[in-house]
Amino acid sequence: MAKIFCIANQKGGVGKTTTAVNLAAGLAKIGQRVLLVDLDPQGNATMGSGIDKRAMEQSVYDVLLESSTIQEAAVLSEKCGYHVLGANRELSGAEIELVALERRNERLKAALEAVQSDFDFVLIDCPPSLSMLTLNGLCSAHGVIVPMQCEYFALEGLTDLVNTIKQVHANMNKHLQIIGLLRVMFDPRTTLQQQVSDQLKAHFGDKVFDTVIPRNVRLAEAPSYGVPGVVFDPAAKGSKAFIEFAEEMVQRIQKM
Ligand code: ADP
Ligand code: MG
Repeated sequence: MAKIFCIANQKGGVGKTTTAVNLAAGLAKIGQRVLLVDLDPQGNATMGSGIDKRAMEQSVYDVLLESSTIQEAAVLSEKCGYHVLGANRELSGAEIELVALERRNERLKAALEAVQSDFDFVLIDCPPSLSMLTLNGLCSAHGVIVPMQCEYFALEGLTDLVNTIKQVHANMNKHLQIIGLLRVMFDPRTTLQQQVSDQLKAHFGDKVFDTVIPRNVRLAEAPSYGVPGVVFDPAAKGSKAFIEFAEEMVQRIQKM
């Protein structure tokens, strides 16, 4: 049975998509069967996995509106070694179309049930908002991975996300929990980052992943080649960190 994780943080540009594609590639590298679901109309995770978002025949939009199944709409990225249920601009309309429909927050959850045994991990790259799309992700998931930069305001932003997760847990998905906070774009030479990192550990304890993802230009360059850094340059510092993170995730799910 697949374990399903949302990569979420309502802030933009914090490293959600970079985490989603590199964790997917890292898990694939160590032999896990992975489905990456792109829930962001920007389609960055789709493009960053080598799938042309403009040329896709079917996408997560069709799955949410129940005009296709995940088996029909997902494609294998051969370069990356995992399956992708892609997104493009069409998805931004889904929000409005879903409002009038039944079970609107549980469309993705229902669709994922049919592919439970085809994958070990399903990773959902969420948009930078607490929208109905994100709710579809949170209702489907066993847990949330929260990438964050160790900056002063990072802790403040976390409160809203933690509250949303609590509400979803209480009202819609009793399985949902924060699996962990992932420190990304980390620069150990910066005193402030070190301090925020220490505060995070003091406050959230073992909810903070052991793995730390450093700031590394190879991770930022990779998307323009249509692959995650882990595939583009596996020897880069950032790629090695994501492979280590994949191993940490495999260990974590054994305790779940
Ligand atoms: P989000 O999905 O949260 O909006 P992205 O993953 O797209 O964030 O990251 C925002 C920007 O930061 C992108 O340009 C990405 O390439 C860059 N980036 C993300 N993680 C790293 C990292 N560890 N080192 C260097 N650049 C990074
Ligand atoms: Mg993104």
